[in-house]
Amino acid sequence: MGDKITFSPAASPKNPFHNPNHTMKIHEYQARHLLAEAGIPVPPGAMVESTLAAKQAAARIFIEGAHLVVVKAQVHAGGRGKAGFVKLVKTVDDAESTAQFMLSNRMVSPQTPPEGLEVRRILVAEAVEIKREFYLAITIDRSRRTATLIASAEGGVEIEHVAATRPDAILRVPFHPLDGLAPFQARDVAMKLGLTGRTINQAVDVMMRLASLFRRVDADLLEINPLVLTPSSSDFPDGQIMAVDAKCTFDDNALFRQKEVAAMFDPAEENAAELHAAKHGLSYVALDGNIGCLVNGAGLAMSTMDIIALHGGRPANFLDVGGSATEEAVTEAFRIILSDSRVEGVLVNIFGGIMQCDRIARAIVGAAHTVGFKVPLVVRLEGTNVDAARQILEAARAEIPTMHSATDLADAANRIVQAVA
Ligand code: GDP
Ligand code: MG
Repeated sequence: MGDKITFSPAASPKNPFHNPNHTMKIHEYQARHLLAEAGIPVPPGAMVESTLAAKQAAARIFIEGAHLVVVKAQVHAGGRGKAGFVKLVKTVDDAESTAQFMLSNRMVSPQTPPEGLEVRRILVAEAVEIKREFYLAITIDRSRRTATLIASAEGGVEIEHVAATRPDAILRVPFHPLDGLAPFQARDVAMKLGLTGRTINQAVDVMMRLASLFRRVDADLLEINPLVLTPSSSDFPDGQIMAVDAKCTFDDNALFRQKEVAAMFDPAEENAAELHAAKHGLSYVALDGNIGCLVNGAGLAMSTMDIIALHGGRPANFLDVGGSATEEAVTEAFRIILSDSRVEGVLVNIFGGIMQCDRIARAIVGAAHTVGFKVPLVVRLEGTNVDAARQILEAARAEIPTMHSATDLADAANRIVQAVA
């Protein structure tokens, strides 16, 4: 049961990654690969993208002598076990029908949007017998400003419940800021988890390797849940400690120096509009209201959302075009907003400092030509080159019949909320 994991390489676009949470997620099969590379015991498996490939992968694992195979949906959300998207199978045919089910049904769990997630990739792995399930993770404790090991003897699918109802069942061990996790701390955790005999050293080894991996890959979170103890076997008389599920997220500010990690980015798991926006240097987050917002500056974008809410409306997005966006990027921003079918009105709120109002005005006219404003558009512009901007919009008024100018922010919010009511 060595770590001879075979994984197909993930799609590796030119890392267009940027998201407002500043973390990048990867799939479980990729996380297992990282753990295995770091020397942490992980059962062998393969990522597949079709029912036929799942069947073949399962057949290979059974031929190697396994009695049980696990078929697991690869999506950027947990709660798969309870949702029926982690299944143990005993035959190749069961592996095939399980893969077929997962690839043709959306997975819905408390961690997915209500409509669920499409499953495009599946992990087919050797299943292990489980005697006990532990929780083990390393993340940054921002209040202590240091990495922290988190462990529990009650790992598995109920960990959220344990954390909510019995926080004392969760151990937290802060690292020394420079020296990292000390072996004595890991040993102490292994004992507190109730491990005995040779499994103590195995668990210490897993914790120490996880800690050095955490630093090496600029991780934001490395989580193994469950970390399992297998029953006694001839190779491992006291049982073996293994990782059977893994979740890793990374600090995206570090991706420039983490090429291997960046290459694991899977754009299919991201919101398409947000990705498209990131490629044009725009900060865009889709929300669930009906008023599209185009604003410059994150602070102004936040207050624009607030003032819309204050007037009884609901923003469809957060969009900060920034100070230095080109006319093309701003036109693209309109295209993104207008392609959202929920958008029933658009509010443009620009305070021209570095951004020049006339550039926004030209982008509005450009968007009117290339995309067209079928919904009401309320424009509030102030600041650099505002007079030129007003002239441009005035000249184009006939081409943008749904456009209204607002005198100030409150007027703008009022007008757009009325327009979509
Ligand atoms: P999650 O529900 O998305 O966290 O998916 P996990 O990979 O953690 O699987 C959920 C549960 O399925 C685990 O807590 C285990 O109880 C069970 N499970 C997963 N893999 C195996 C395996 O290889 N063998 C056995 N016996 N159970 C497994
Ligand atoms: Mg899990």
